[in-house]
Amino acid sequence: MTDAATRRVRTRYAPSPTGSPHVGNLRTALFSYLLAKRFGGDFILRVEDTDQTRLVPGALNDIIQSLRTMGMMYDEGPDVLSVEKLDKEKYGDVPSELLPTFGGDHAPYFQSQRLPRYREVVDTLLAEGKAYYAFETREELDAQRAACEARKIPFLYDRKYRDYDMAEAKGRVEAGEESVVRFKMPLTGAIIAEDAVRGELSWDATSQDDFVILKGDGYPPYHLAAIVDDHDMQITHVLRGEEWIPSYPKHIELIRALGWEAPVFVHTPSILGPEKKKLSKRNGAQPVTGVIFDKQTNEPIYGYVDYEGILPEALLNALVLVGWSPGDDSEVMPRDEIVRKFDISGISASPGVFDKDKLIWMNGLYIRELPQAVLAQRSLPYLKRAKLVPESPTEEEMAYIVQVVALEQERIKTLAETPDLTEYFFLPLPNYLEKSADKWIRKGTAKAYLSNLAAFLESYSDWTHDGLEEAVRQIGAKHERERGDITHPVRVALSGRENGPGLFEMMAVLGRERVLARLTHAVQNV
Ligand code: GLU
Repeated sequence: MTDAATRRVRTRYAPSPTGSPHVGNLRTALFSYLLAKRFGGDFILRVEDTDQTRLVPGALNDIIQSLRTMGMMYDEGPDVLSVEKLDKEKYGDVPSELLPTFGGDHAPYFQSQRLPRYREVVDTLLAEGKAYYAFETREELDAQRAACEARKIPFLYDRKYRDYDMAEAKGRVEAGEESVVRFKMPLTGAIIAEDAVRGELSWDATSQDDFVILKGDGYPPYHLAAIVDDHDMQITHVLRGEEWIPSYPKHIELIRALGWEAPVFVHTPSILGPEKKKLSKRNGAQPVTGVIFDKQTNEPIYGYVDYEGILPEALLNALVLVGWSPGDDSEVMPRDEIVRKFDISGISASPGVFDKDKLIWMNGLYIRELPQAVLAQRSLPYLKRAKLVPESPTEEEMAYIVQVVALEQERIKTLAETPDLTEYFFLPLPNYLEKSADKWIRKGTAKAYLSNLAAFLESYSDWTHDGLEEAVRQIGAKHERERGDITHPVRVALSGRENGPGLFEMMAVLGRERVLARLTHAVQNV
């Protein structure tokens, strides 16, 4: 084997567009992306659509959207032209602005558009006696399968046509008889292959099948298509889920039969939810963006970034730790640090845990680091959806939004919390919680106090945090009120609730007009 490390690192994400991805599906893509970026190489998106019966319209768009949202930009992938040529009914709409304008040197990136190449490779294997035509009908194969089941042994094709005369086989194919092409696996000995995380893996040849490399419909199954493409696209490192380990002997034997150099294979560990439960929609397996619907219950499952208020950078950070560790204790790492540290040696063989609570905690830390204006921009879709701010805020409105959201920056863990926490800043008047109004506004002399405070503030000049504190304390003292009795009625009058940011910051941001209107309203109408 020549040294893969001396070649330009090229990795790929090769999804089958058979469903919309959730974060768990993207973890291996993230590892692939990071490995390429770590070594200044290329990350390729290849669409594995050879099983035409399982395509789900819209899935490809969701995959592309997810990659883009997470900032996992691919250097090569489906180009606009080839998408336009696609059957829209099968793939759904893929808006052209979502696609890179550059397809790449190895286009097309849709396997369904690469059939002639697979046929060519299959023909080579046939010509070299490394593959053969087989003519069993579905019923015959089913009978073989049933016989194995009855004997409680794993089903292996009986290799009836392995040594069948090639000229005769060709004749039958040319005469239009249905056939598949099967690959000749070794009959004896051990099949040994290397996994970069798990080391040497070995299978007994007798456990292996002469598997199909070209189906009756002219499409190759995954086993052949992926191997051909990984070779043709000069992939140096194949990162894929560990569920592919059982197929690995097939792949390595194919590569050997074709005389190709094997890429480095990395089988990534599976992902569990908290308490080592299966990762499911209920415990965190949600999409990055958009909404998907549970196959059984049809319940909506909302995207992390556009519905749950998770920042893509926090999601990326949390996701990379699922089955990978930088080798020290660091957890919260900005993207460039992750890229710098990412390496195969940090990938674990045992399952990783995706913990949504941890993601939310981490998101809070990322939110705290955002510049105020950026936080406001990112909160905007949530505020708009809650109809708290206009669709196109003016500069002045935007300045207000920045100040409001900044007041909650230390507290919020997700952007989705913002509307609820800041609602009273944007509504003409707050919604008063009955309990809070009873306790702090409707009781004793509170209204007299609030009324005097309003009168005093009307012409008060020092509209700053400290100035407002001074004013409130001064009027409160005049009314001989206790400490808490001074601030609570004001807070409830202004926000309708007892919790929130510091009262004087809140007043400074609300501004004189809103403060006076709310104090008066509380006195007169609450
Ligand atoms: N199309 C395969 C899948 O979606 C890809 C496996 C691979 O990465 O090779 O599971």
